Amino acid sequence: MTEELKNSDNQWLRKQIVEISRRLSAEGFNINSSGNVSVRAQRGQKEGFLVTPSGVDYETMRPSDLVFVELKKDAAVFWGKLKPSSEWQLHEHIYRKRPDVGSVVHTHSCYATALSCMEEAIPPFHYMIALSNAAKINCAKYATFGSVELAQHAVDALGEQSLACLLSHHGVIACGKDLQKAFALAREVENLSHMWLLIRNSSGSCEMIKSTEMDKILEKFKHYGQTGTNVK
Ligand code: 13P
Ligand code: ZN
Repeated sequence: MTEELKNSDNQWLRKQIVEISRRLSAEGFNINSSGNVSVRAQRGQKEGFLVTPSGVDYETMRPSDLVFVELKKDAAVFWGKLKPSSEWQLHEHIYRKRPDVGSVVHTHSCYATALSCMEEAIPPFHYMIALSNAAKINCAKYATFGSVELAQHAVDALGEQSLACLLSHHGVIACGKDLQKAFALAREVENLSHMWLLIRNSSGSCEMIKSTEMDKILEKFKHYGQTGTNVK
């Protein structure tokens, strides 16, 4: 750690990250210190992201415990008094590869993680799959937690446009243009995973949504809700 953080650094953002991390814990998505959360941020002129510290219980985590990871051209530099999440490279790889991503939420939520152990993508059985900005939610190949290999596999599974993937035998990655969107997608992935497990375990059959229809839904999602209106 190269420098103590000034208390004034990104205070509002830091509070938001702690609040969402606590909600992930309170809603049962992350037990103890599992999972991690990050948001793209600046520290003066430095570009990077704020990430939760490693192994700190969400109940006791404070805004000043977050670590700023500076994204230098060929290296990452940590600014903070605690060690960053062991998955900082996973977050780093996503931010470097995907300029459209402003926040990354990683969970070990129960149903999605159960599905990740089957090493399969979640197929287009429900139109809300398109909230991930893709027609299916891929499952990244297995690699040890906290490894650069896992970061590479996650980036491969996300590809150029998807905002969510499963991590084999591990959990979920949900991205968004901001923290609220990434959090909402993490919740939806868990909801979809619950449904898909119910379907898989039932004796009924389930047709997939055709790719032409999924294309239509993906297009509709670009204008869904209050986007493009003057409603504040
Ligand atoms: P950290 O506490 O280091 O963020 O690790 C939690 C986790 O989910 C590892 O994959
Ligand atoms: Zn994890």
